[in-house]
Amino acid sequence: MNIIAILSPERVFYKNEPIRELDEALKTQGFQLVYPTSSGDLVKLIEQNPRICGVIFDWDQYSMDLCIEINELNEYLPLYAFINTHSSLDVSLNEMRMVLYFFEYGLGVADDISIRIRQYTDEYIDAIIPPFTKALFNYVKEGKYTFCTPGHMAGTAYQKSPVGSLFYDFFGANTLKADVSISVTELGSLLDHSGPHLEAEEFIARIFGAEQSYMVTNGTSTANKMVGMYAAPSGSTVLIDRNCHKSLTHLLMMSDIVPIYLCPIRNAYGILGGIPKREFSRESIALKVAQTPHATWPVHAVITNSTYDGLLYNTQYIKETLDVHSIHFDSAWVPYTNFHPIYRGKSGMSGERIPGKVIFETQSTHKLLAAFSQASLIHIKGDYDERTFNEAYMMHTTTSPNYGIVASIETAAAMVRGKPGRRLILRSIERALHFRKEVQRLREESEGWFFDIWQPEIIEEAVCWPIEPGAPWHGFNNADADHMYLDPIKVTILTPGMDEFGTMAEEGIPAALVAKFLDERGVVVEKTGPYNLLFLFSIGIDKTKAMSLLRGLTEFKRSYDLNLRVRNMLPDLFAEDPDFYRNMRIQDLAQGIHRLIRQHRLPHLMLSAFDVLPEMKMTPHAAFQQQVRGNVETVELPDLLGRISANMLLPYPPGVPVVMPGEMITEQSRGVLDFLIMLCTIGIHYPGFETDIHGAQLTEDGRYLVRVLKTDITA
Ligand SMILES: *Cc1c(COP(=O)(O)O)cnc(C)c1O
Repeated sequence: MNIIAILSPERVFYKNEPIRELDEALKTQGFQLVYPTSSGDLVKLIEQNPRICGVIFDWDQYSMDLCIEINELNEYLPLYAFINTHSSLDVSLNEMRMVLYFFEYGLGVADDISIRIRQYTDEYIDAIIPPFTKALFNYVKEGKYTFCTPGHMAGTAYQKSPVGSLFYDFFGANTLKADVSISVTELGSLLDHSGPHLEAEEFIARIFGAEQSYMVTNGTSTANKMVGMYAAPSGSTVLIDRNCHKSLTHLLMMSDIVPIYLCPIRNAYGILGGIPKREFSRESIALKVAQTPHATWPVHAVITNSTYDGLLYNTQYIKETLDVHSIHFDSAWVPYTNFHPIYRGKSGMSGERIPGKVIFETQSTHKLLAAFSQASLIHIKGDYDERTFNEAYMMHTTTSPNYGIVASIETAAAMVRGKPGRRLILRSIERALHFRKEVQRLREESEGWFFDIWQPEIIEEAVCWPIEPGAPWHGFNNADADHMYLDPIKVTILTPGMDEFGTMAEEGIPAALVAKFLDERGVVVEKTGPYNLLFLFSIGIDKTKAMSLLRGLTEFKRSYDLNLRVRNMLPDLFAEDPDFYRNMRIQDLAQGIHRLIRQHRLPHLMLSAFDVLPEMKMTPHAAFQQQVRGNVETVELPDLLGRISANMLLPYPPGVPVVMPGEMITEQSRGVLDFLIMLCTIGIHYPGFETDIHGAQLTEDGRYLVRVLKTDITA
């Protein structure tokens, strides 16, 4: 971080000569100097170069306006204004939070000034690095000798082995030096929340609008279990979003608690519309409690916010309505909601405390902010027992946390702090909006078909678009007003073949084909439905990436319209079964799969798969205990009817569990099985299109096996 931008003053010697001297002096201090041609140029330069660590300009020429503009970009950036003896100061200056230093034009003072600029730059760097990360950087710089773990000893052990050296060179010295032991006392402790670790958690809580935050180094999968272990005692009943992440199923298997499911609505695309308002009412809950063996009034609720497809709840409504002691929003997908006003009122931490309730929010920092994999946070608002909570926290925390992950969580928070953070999020929102408009434009200009986007017809500005009851675009039959909102950065592309109500067209292009095409060109899709593809416009998506996606889509259309051979268009797919795909052309493949989907009425089956839940014969916890005792056997998927499933079955798409451990598919819930069998059928007909069903095992010869409890056990 050593670039200083200088806006050259007007061409008069008494100003130019001191700047020339300063240029030289700063270079000896190790700075690189750049000379933008105008204030507009400078602002662009700062915007695009986060390594710029200072700006030098002439106060008479630019003064306040420029300061304000730069301040909007980065309020921490040091500004150096050069004045002459007649310059006047603006009084409103004092009201603004900015880092502004004044120097006078003069000859022979450049060395002094450059030393001070060095010092102010160091202060700037110091101000933007958060506490734990700073302590870790300093620790590494000191280069102490330790006689504790990890055994690679700051990387030295690697360099004693040929393969170790390759590993060392790949990851680099600092990665290994920063991998330090929990025994290093000056860095504090993650488990005790002390020293720089505590400072980091306090820093994070302030930024994320939480009362307290906990850093978790093994994913939101773990964060979810920590919250659940604390919030739901053995024997209690909890409300769980049926659209839950599998970590919550695992929580139900670990804790002896009774689940009652909150059931989301969905449309024909397989997009989840969230849990409707009526499910949160006391009446609805009371009915389910009455119908569920061993259930009592629930103490805790878990809601996935946002859904996989990017729908956010009006969280205030849920917090006020849901009559439980604690509410946990699993927000693994949206760690950025506190940093732009369009998300106000739609996140776990937004708004004030709710008297008598505790709100938890878990976020995968690594999913859509910049952090190492497994970086996760728990935020809390409301009164809770810190010591008990920390037992649940420690129960799931390794005693050897990876400090690189810890620093990355904290740095992610520092990145989204203040105006630079807001801009970062704004930019990804704008990029997504631009992309949406580009696809719309291409669709209007294109001959014949083109891809569509799942969004309202008019998308002028970046907002979270409400799922309004009766609006034609979203395809949810019974949407509630003021309840769910589509996040603009989650972009769902639609392929031809089916409308939002599941009416199938004569011809169609199943999305899996497009996903494979893009994948072979280095564009990885987040999720593929029957006729839709999900893309995430996180802060790491730059213009070039958005462009390659657009290009991929237009290339697909061109190749499809030319009806190229599968062998040429999808070589990787071709390689999976050259005999099968030998002479096939892309349109034959598309129509073949489309016909299968039509024949099996996939949208209809998908919808009815969720109409009636399978019957809970025992809790997931009890079912797992049976599994541990060995009371399980393996059957083929079609034989699942009338058997108690040992594990969760979760097909992608739609990525929602259709069977939970301890549940039995009965005649009433037969739709679940029909749906699963239909998914398997497509893979049988078309090599390379096998469905991924978590919980089922695909054999070499194409059968799906599942684990069920033996019939001679009693619950
Ligand atoms: C990904 C995800 C998790 C788990 O997060 P990890 O950080 O991968 O462990 C939990 N809940 C939801 C809704 C998720 O999408």
